[in-house]
Amino acid sequence: AQAAALGKATGPGATKDGHRVPLLANIGGPQDVEAALANGAEGVGLYRTEFLFLDRSTPPTDDEQEEAYRKVLEAFPDGRVVVRTLDAGADKPLAFLPPPGEEPNPALGERGLRMMRHHPGFQAAQLGALARAAAGQSAKLEVMAPMVTDAEEAAYFAQACRDAGIDHPGIMIEVPAAALRARDLAPEVEFFSLGTNDLTQYACAADRQIGGLSHLQDPWQPAVLDLMAITAAAAAEAGKSCGVCGEAGGDPALACVLTGLGVTSLSMSAPSLPLVRAALARHTLAECRQAAEAARAARTAQAARAAARIHLPALA
Ligand code: PEP
Ligand code: MG
Repeated sequence: AQAAALGKATGPGATKDGHRVPLLANIGGPQDVEAALANGAEGVGLYRTEFLFLDRSTPPTDDEQEEAYRKVLEAFPDGRVVVRTLDAGADKPLAFLPPPGEEPNPALGERGLRMMRHHPGFQAAQLGALARAAAGQSAKLEVMAPMVTDAEEAAYFAQACRDAGIDHPGIMIEVPAAALRARDLAPEVEFFSLGTNDLTQYACAADRQIGGLSHLQDPWQPAVLDLMAITAAAAAEAGKSCGVCGEAGGDPALACVLTGLGVTSLSMSAPSLPLVRAALARHTLAECRQAAEAARAARTAQAARAAARIHLPALA
C-alpha cells in the first residue's frame, strides 16, 4: 500500500520522461519467483545458483539443476533471465568444492570463476543443464560468471558458454581491476552486471562480513561510484549492456544515480522493486544525471548521498 501511494506499483521501469530502465529481481531459486512476479519484476537480473548447492554434502544432479533452471525460465516468458554460474568460496563455501589449498584470506582466494577453473567438469555440467533448460523457452537466457578479473578470464568464460550452446555470455564486474579496465573486457562478452557488494568490499578493502566496517562497505563511496561510471561508459562505448545486481540497485536514491551513470537495468531483491520503480518514475533522466554528477563530485559517502538528494526532489 505504501508503494502504491508513492507511485506506480507495477509496470516497466522508466524515468519520468520515459527513459527505460528494466527492473529485475535477484533470486535464489524457483521459490523466489512468486515474490518477484508479485512485485512486478520484468525478469531476473541475478539468479544466485549456489543456493541449489549449499547445505548439502553432494552436488545436485544434472536433472535437478535443469529442472530448477527451467522453472525460473518458464516464469518469465517475455523477460530476461540472468543466471550466475556457481559462486563458490569465500562467503559461500561449499562442502564438496574445497579450495585447492590453505587460504588465510578466502575473499582474496579461490572463489567464483577462479574456483570453477579448477573444476571444469562442474562448470560444463552447469552450463549444459542451463542450455537444456532454455531449449524451447521464450525467455532470454543470459549466463554470467562471478569474480572475473581480466580479459583473459572473460574470454575463457565466454568460450565455455558458447561451447555449451549458450549465446549470451556475460560477466559480473565486482573486482576493481575489471572495472578499471572494463574497456578490455567488453569485447569478450555480451553484457556486464555490476556486483556492488563485492565491488565495494574490494575497492574499500572492507570485509563485507564484518559489521563494524559497514561505513566503508558503502556503495555511495565516491571511489565506488567512479568504478561504476567507468564500467558503464566502457559498456556503452562497446554497445554492450551494463546492469547492476548488487544491493545498491535497491536503494531508491542510488538507483536514480546509477541510471544517471548510464547503467541499463537494475536488479534487486523483490521487496525493493516498488520503491525503486516509484523513485525512477518521479525523476527525469536529466535529474538522474545531475544527481550522479553531484554524487561523484563529493568527497565522502555521506556527502555523496546529500549531494544526490538535492537533484532528486521527489524522493520519498
Ligand atoms: C555482489 O557481489 O554485489 C553480488 C551481487 O553478488 P553476491 O552478493 O552474491 O556476492
Ligand atoms: Mg559478489
